Amino acid sequence: DSGVRADSLDKHSNARWPRQNSLSMKEWDIPYDDVKIFEVIGAGRFGTVCRGSWHGAVAVKLLHVLPLSDDGSLLDTFKHEVSIFRKTRHENLVLFMGACMKPPRLAIVTSLCKGMTLYTHIHLRKDKFTANKSVLVAQQISQGMGYLHARGIIHKDLKTKNIFLESGKVVITDFGLFSVTKLCFGNNARGDSLGIPSGWLCYLAPEIIRALRPHASLLLPFSKATDIYAFGTVWYELLCGEFPFKGQPPESIIWQVGKGVKQSLANMQASRDIKDILMVCWSYRAADRPDFPSLLNTLQKLPKKRLARSPSHPVHLSRSADS
Ligand code: ATP
Repeated sequence: DSGVRADSLDKHSNARWPRQNSLSMKEWDIPYDDVKIFEVIGAGRFGTVCRGSWHGAVAVKLLHVLPLSDDGSLLDTFKHEVSIFRKTRHENLVLFMGACMKPPRLAIVTSLCKGMTLYTHIHLRKDKFTANKSVLVAQQISQGMGYLHARGIIHKDLKTKNIFLESGKVVITDFGLFSVTKLCFGNNARGDSLGIPSGWLCYLAPEIIRALRPHASLLLPFSKATDIYAFGTVWYELLCGEFPFKGQPPESIIWQVGKGVKQSLANMQASRDIKDILMVCWSYRAADRPDFPSLLNTLQKLPKKRLARSPSHPVHLSRSADS
């Protein structure tokens, strides 16, 4: 596909015309001192996000760079990921504005998202999403993700924490930065021995679960199909207001997903077509999962009548499912 070709062409040209490449990189290189950094918005696994100002309000993700990891390969990976990031322009994707590329000060500057994340809506505020609203959100996620995939970019970390909702508009963040963030922090200090932070596991497709090894997160087999699996989990959270395998220990989730066991939908009050989307996204075999354009097509075809059956009530799990 053309996205992949563009990337490999870039790599090729880097080797042959380094000067040209460094010129184009310069367009995106923001001197650290030009960015005003204000308060911390939040800290993730690999970086701290601050509100900032650079020609207006921005979000600045300061990567935690360990002195030991500063061996040149970190900077190369960072530059490569930035070169991918800068090619994205879509209304459902956060706007990349530039990066500070002088170690140890590595930072990514993006537009500041104003709304809340889907995670905050669903899990902290316990906001209920009607089936109609869930479909609108899912359609926008599919649109943004379809664009990324068409450009050959795999998100690798699609989850409700990385999806903002700004007055009904979906904005996806944090795509394609998985490798550099992993490199920065080495293995996750806050996760368990496999380096798995809580809340991450249920987004991981069976082939990733099966490849989990301590200290080997860079080798995980992410693909377009693993992004689709993660989308399935987001779809489930939207519909049910909770994570799949809720309350179960990581070992049990790993065992079940690795064997192809899925979260039961028996107690879920939703139409067949809505459940079918979940099941096909969570297919055990990567090849059986749909791509985002066909998912979007399915979402657009969901019968309005059926969705409108109980417009003011979200799809939900019956009480028995929680016990
Ligand atoms: P993880 O490290 O597991 O991905 P996370 O997604 O919470 O966790 P970050 O992506 O580092 O971690 O984000 C930290 C905080 O900053 C979160 O509260 C996130 O919502 C917020 N944030 C990230 N990007 C933006 C942005 N562009 N605009 C506004 N807030 C943002």
